[in-house]
Amino acid sequence: MSVEEKTKELSVYESMAARYDVAARKLGLDEGLSNYLRTPNREIIVHIPVSMDDGTLRVFDGYRVQHSIARGPCKGGVRYSPDVTLDEIRGLAAEMTWKCAVVNIPFGGAKGGVICDPFKLSTGELERITRRYTAEIFDYIGPERDVPAPDMNTNEQTMAWIMDTYSMHMRHTVTASATGKPYSLGGSLGRREATGRGCMMTADEALKRFRWHRESTRVIVQGFGNVGSQAARLMHEAGYKIIGVADISGGVMNTNGIDIPGLWKYKEANKTIKGFPNTEPIGAQEILEQDCDLLLPAATESVITSKNAHKVKAKLLVEGANSPTTPPADDILFDRGVFVIPDILANAGGVTVSYFEWVQDRQGYFWTEAMVNERLKHIMVTSFNAVVNFGDKHKVNNRIAAYMLAIDRVAFCINLRGIYA
Ligand code: NAD
Repeated sequence: MSVEEKTKELSVYESMAARYDVAARKLGLDEGLSNYLRTPNREIIVHIPVSMDDGTLRVFDGYRVQHSIARGPCKGGVRYSPDVTLDEIRGLAAEMTWKCAVVNIPFGGAKGGVICDPFKLSTGELERITRRYTAEIFDYIGPERDVPAPDMNTNEQTMAWIMDTYSMHMRHTVTASATGKPYSLGGSLGRREATGRGCMMTADEALKRFRWHRESTRVIVQGFGNVGSQAARLMHEAGYKIIGVADISGGVMNTNGIDIPGLWKYKEANKTIKGFPNTEPIGAQEILEQDCDLLLPAATESVITSKNAHKVKAKLLVEGANSPTTPPADDILFDRGVFVIPDILANAGGVTVSYFEWVQDRQGYFWTEAMVNERLKHIMVTSFNAVVNFGDKHKVNNRIAAYMLAIDRVAFCINLRGIYA
């Protein structure tokens, strides 16, 4: 199913707000504070003129939404896609606030996006879009204000351009102005793998809970980009049995296990996973309904809805993507006993190592990969247990538990600071 065909039962912001409202009510949050916390601090809309390679001038629309600075500077990715909307960026910015609070790192939440199709743009055009977007939001970003990171269709190169543009305006190099940068420009070892690694670390904790073994846990991964390909590789190396993988071009299945290192090489050579030898073809959406133990959506939002949630066969859902499940689907999965590791916990490894990168840049002292991974594990395991124990104690599902824990932490800081109203 294409992005356009996807059933959007609720918009990304509506989904966030629906979950937020349940959690805030259960916490007994004051109504005024609750309204304040649901609303972003600031929404920036920019219109970016860009010289195209053919000599024409085009104008692209971009957004940066800063949801909260209650616990520290804003933090959040920038995505490039023709489907970007302000509503989506607003919802994802709020989710960043909750994500940073779940893993207890000192950031608020933000998100950015530019409406463009990066697959139809040259490298030069992408660089000019990125630099002008950065220049337009320059007054509102920076190491103490708001720190961008990669997201869908942006990468280390995009972050290098953002860091350089910010630095040119500041007249000195400010490596902590963006994270997810190349290592030689102040990036962190382990950042590239961090989101996928964090997904595996939370999955490992769930396995302990169920007394499952990696070797007999059959995994399907939707999305083979930064998150999905790293999660699949690390889980394969750790002994999990990856039986299905999909990207936007379609999926591949082999119930005996897929050769993931081979798939990486195939993707590099062919730019697609379609047609990988020793696998059966399957649709990118249909793959979510195949028999497996662990499903890891790592592509895009709203892929599990009320239309297909009852067909999901996995008993464990690890949300690598942001907002892959709609609230109506949440209820169906919960009723069917599916153990969900929600996005704001499962994929928080990325922002956690982004935090490590920001710390290293500010200190000018860089850690070994082993230090990064060990500290990441400590945070992911602690956060997993905090969420699951909170859910057990308050008799709510993991998603609402994660929201409650996060909202409580943010509200606590706001109450300590007081509201400048
Ligand atoms: P990416 O652009 O690197 O990869 C996206 C992958 O999903 C690609 O393989 C693409 O072909 C596939 N895809 C896109 N639409 C699809 C569809 N409809 N069906 C099947 N496959 C589809 O992006 P990414 O950085 O890996 O991000 C993926 C998701 O994870 C997003 O929701 C993003 O917000 C979230 N996320 C990313 C990070 C990070 O560190 N990159 C951190 C946290 C959350």
